[in-house]
Amino acid sequence: MGKLALLHGVWTELVACGARFMGTPGAEQAVEVITRYLQRWGLQYHCHEYEYTSWLPGDPPRLAWDGREREAYVMLGSPGAQAKGPLSGTIEYVGPLGIWGRHDWERFALVSPQAELLAYIAGRQAGPAIPQTLPLGCDQVLYLGIGSADVQELLLAHQTGRVVTATLEANPSFGAVQIGRSVVAELPRRGDRLVIIGAHYDSFWNTAGAYDNASGAACLLSLAHQLRDGVPGLNVRLVWFGSEEWLLAGSNAYVQMLEERGEVPSFMLNLDGVGRGDVLEVWYGPDPLLPFLRETIEPQAAELGVATRYIFPPPEGSDHAAFYRAGSKVCMLTFNDLEILHRAEDSIDEAKLRNMQKTLQIAQALLDRLPHQEL
Ligand SMILES: [Zn+2]
Repeated sequence: MGKLALLHGVWTELVACGARFMGTPGAEQAVEVITRYLQRWGLQYHCHEYEYTSWLPGDPPRLAWDGREREAYVMLGSPGAQAKGPLSGTIEYVGPLGIWGRHDWERFALVSPQAELLAYIAGRQAGPAIPQTLPLGCDQVLYLGIGSADVQELLLAHQTGRVVTATLEANPSFGAVQIGRSVVAELPRRGDRLVIIGAHYDSFWNTAGAYDNASGAACLLSLAHQLRDGVPGLNVRLVWFGSEEWLLAGSNAYVQMLEERGEVPSFMLNLDGVGRGDVLEVWYGPDPLLPFLRETIEPQAAELGVATRYIFPPPEGSDHAAFYRAGSKVCMLTFNDLEILHRAEDSIDEAKLRNMQKTLQIAQALLDRLPHQEL
């Protein structure tokens, strides 16, 4: 089977698992797909298990004002409503909200006639409604995500002093502690320098996540096949992380274990989100890594016709974060595609597949040069 056919095949299989939200059959099925290929190719692997507190989005939320229902999602990690039944109150502007290194969200409070805070409603200034994972420390009040058209409407009402009365129903909830799994494959060791290449296989509950992140998980499977005899000069481990969307639970637990064993890798390459478009974002750190990355990536990018953006410090929102904190040099490759992020529209698409091929070529170039690089 050709490289492209294999890449397309494994990607299609992962997407066919459907939504791969933590604790769901879709997530289990993705683990089966990944391990079945590793077995077929004779690669050593095991599952790294970790505990997490489960969380369920509940029924699709209902949010309305001015007599119109609005598209809204419960934010991942949102507590349930304090009161039973529909909430009703006026909307007040609070200010910007930082979500995973992006500060283009606006936030509003839903306030009862008795001046109690009932819920927060937040959304991007551009783009449709999406669920996102709340940062730590938002564990008191129900949180909904809305789209930019509704954000603009509420901002205008705030600026002109118009009072907006809204009703809201949503029932997310926390559940029991559960066991999650990351899949870890060891390539035959061809050197001492430990390098980890990672990609999360989980997704949000409302999407099959072809871009976020069946794309990265499929690229990693393709690399597993390509590199099944090992990489000269390196000791390479491939990890398909679970529960990335849930505050990076899988990779945080994995890095904690590595730190306890004194096995923190010198380099971690993260593949998360191969979307459409022709801008490759390279999230990296620490800063002295930049010349190596540019010298390696730029010739490839020129040949492939992609523009590059190097982003430092690496935003916290993916699996490289714990590695970076533990002292690894990190690089994440992404074709960021915010229009379809965490949306049902994130499906199989030729443009993504072409960018997955490009991502693979760039990952291979990085691996070729890594053994010869002072890190
Ligand atoms: Zn992702």
